[in-house]
Amino acid sequence: MNIHEYQAKELLAKFGVPVPAGYAAMTVDEAVDAAKKLPGPLYVVKAQIHAGGRGKGKFKELGPDAKGGVRLAKTLDEVRAAAADMLGNTLVTVQTGEHGKQVNRLYVTDGVDIAKEFYLALLVNRATGRISMVASTEGGMDIETVAHDTPEKIHAIDVDPATGFMPHHGRAVAAALELKGDLAKQAANVASKLYDAFLGTDAEQIEINPLAVTEASGDSGAKLMVLDAKVGFDGNAMFRHKDLLALRDETEEDPAELEASKYDLAYIKLDGDIGCMVNGAGLAMATMDIIKLNGMFPANFLDVGGGANKEKVTAAFKIILSDPAVKGILVNIFGGIMRCDIIAEGIVAAAKEVNLSVPLVVRLEGTNVQQGKDILANSGLAIVPANDLGDAAQKIVAEVKKAA
Ligand code: GDP
Ligand code: MG
Repeated sequence: MNIHEYQAKELLAKFGVPVPAGYAAMTVDEAVDAAKKLPGPLYVVKAQIHAGGRGKGKFKELGPDAKGGVRLAKTLDEVRAAAADMLGNTLVTVQTGEHGKQVNRLYVTDGVDIAKEFYLALLVNRATGRISMVASTEGGMDIETVAHDTPEKIHAIDVDPATGFMPHHGRAVAAALELKGDLAKQAANVASKLYDAFLGTDAEQIEINPLAVTEASGDSGAKLMVLDAKVGFDGNAMFRHKDLLALRDETEEDPAELEASKYDLAYIKLDGDIGCMVNGAGLAMATMDIIKLNGMFPANFLDVGGGANKEKVTAAFKIILSDPAVKGILVNIFGGIMRCDIIAEGIVAAAKEVNLSVPLVVRLEGTNVQQGKDILANSGLAIVPANDLGDAAQKIVAEVKKAA
């Protein structure tokens, strides 16, 4: 589960991470009011979408010469103009895909004078099973490009969960950022606070790009500040973070995937023609593979889980059929915990309810499989039964080709 930059910064601030002051805004007037609460003289107006690369992004409606989704403003009028340019328009960045994302929220922050930009991210290193801090002096730019062109400029520092974050981890981050003296202390402190935030929220990713060094001014020395934050949480841990769940912006999510999550279905849309309804992730993957082996492509990954009842099966049918690309459905369910006759009843009821208009091949295996097959055969529906996985895949591909 991902959240917006302004939510991420408010959250990180609670853990003691230094962020510039800022306010979210849903309208142009709110954006101007937000700026009025800030000290000035520099403001930053930032489009809030669940995608990075906003600064270099382009608005579809504004033409190629217009500025992107992160704009510096020196007056309230400039804040107003920037907000009016962004709200309601579609921002296309390297991360949104060509469709872009509509901007419905803004974040107006106190603008800082940047002396240098760094990169600092925390994520789970699956190879070592530890939280890894990834630091680079090359901030503010696309980290994938840095990793490709100058991999020696990226440093990964793993934290052993048995010790937790230790002072030497902080010093290693500071060294990776080539900082000394007070800024090195600040870097160690920021890293430590980010680690606390990562653990405390069951995060999957905290990416700070840029982590900026501000210009020293007057009596106050240079400061490290988090200017951009991308935070994602482990969806499976969200049951114990009700406060974080409230930060979910459902307009940023795929509507079909959102609907599926309401029924506890694991659904991911893909680009093929054959809708799949399967229980168990392993079986779902095998089903997708065998569809490909037979020359077609799956339209989705869908795991209805162990307790597939009629309600779930009906919801799954509706979600699959809401995809106009679907030309046929393959149901491949192993009735281990759930009996095949119950599943068959669910499939028949669901197929009747949704007025199935595409070929449907069903392969059932497991407890009471014969009763299940009888229910399908006697349903009066044009359900094509299959005996095993290979048979099922061949049949659905043949049925779809026949119907075309
Ligand atoms: P992204 O393009 O989606 O990654 O959005 P960022 O929040 O990272 O902003 C893009 C760039 O805008 C940053 O790398 C900075 O160079 C610049 N920027 C963001 N905030 C400020 C600020 O307060 N002051 C100045 N001078 N530049 C900023
Ligand atoms: Mg950024």
